[in-house]
Amino acid sequence: MDDHELAGYLAELAGAELLHFRQEGIRSGTNSWVLRDKGDLISHNLLIEQLSRHRPQDAVLSEEGSDDQRRLDADRVWIIDPLDGSQDYPYNGSDEWAVHVALIEDGELKAGAVSCPSLNRHYSTAMRYPDERQIREERIVVSNRWNAYQAAYVAEAIGARLASCGSAGIKASLVIGEDADVYIHNSGLYEWDVCAPVAVARAAGLSACQLDGSDFKFNKKAPIVRGLVICHSELLDEVLNVLNSG
Ligand SMILES: [Mg+2]
Repeated sequence: MDDHELAGYLAELAGAELLHFRQEGIRSGTNSWVLRDKGDLISHNLLIEQLSRHRPQDAVLSEEGSDDQRRLDADRVWIIDPLDGSQDYPYNGSDEWAVHVALIEDGELKAGAVSCPSLNRHYSTAMRYPDERQIREERIVVSNRWNAYQAAYVAEAIGARLASCGSAGIKASLVIGEDADVYIHNSGLYEWDVCAPVAVARAAGLSACQLDGSDFKFNKKAPIVRGLVICHSELLDEVLNVLNSG
C-alpha cells in the first residue's frame, strides 16, 4: 500500500470499528459520555497500532495522544483525528462524525483520507475525482453550528443558502460530494481537524486555505490553524473578499 492507499484504508478501518462500537453501545444502553470517550480511545489505539505496523519509522500527532515533540524534527508525520465530531457520535441517527488521517512529508501535505461511516462516504487522496466540478444551481454555504456570522455574509454575497452541521470532516465531504459549494469555519481549529479534509479537498480539485486566504503550515509546535475555507475554485476570490473586507 502506498501512503494514499494506507490513509484511505486506515480511515475506513477505524470508521467501521467506530460504527460497530456505537451500535453495540447504544444497544446495550452505554452512557453517551462513556461511549464518546471510549470511541475516541478505540479509534486512536487502532490507528496507532496500525501505523506502527505499516509505517514504524513515522511520527504521529493525534488529538487523543500525548504530543511527542520529536515530531517537529521528523520527516514524516501522520496527523490524525480518530473521531472528529465526537459530541455527536454517541447518538443513534447522528451522522455528523468522521475519521481523519493525513500525512505530512517534508513539511508538505502528502496524503489524506476522511471517512464518514454513517453516511457511507469515504474520500482519500488515492481516489480519482472528476476533472470538472460544477457550481450548484442552488448554492449552499455550510458552516459550524456555533458561529456562522461570517458564513452568513458569504452566503448573502454569493446568493447561497446557509446550512450548518457538526464535524469538519463531514462539512468538507459535503463540498467534495457536491452537496455544498463552500465550507467556512471562522474560528481557530487544530491541525487534526483540518489536515485530512484539506488533503482530500485539494485532490478533488477544490481550493482550501485559512480565513485570510493564506496557505496552511502543518506540524507546527502549536498545531493550530486560523480557520478554514474549502470551496469551488471559481468562488474563492469572492468568498475571500467577503471574509477579509473590513
Ligand atoms: Mg476528535
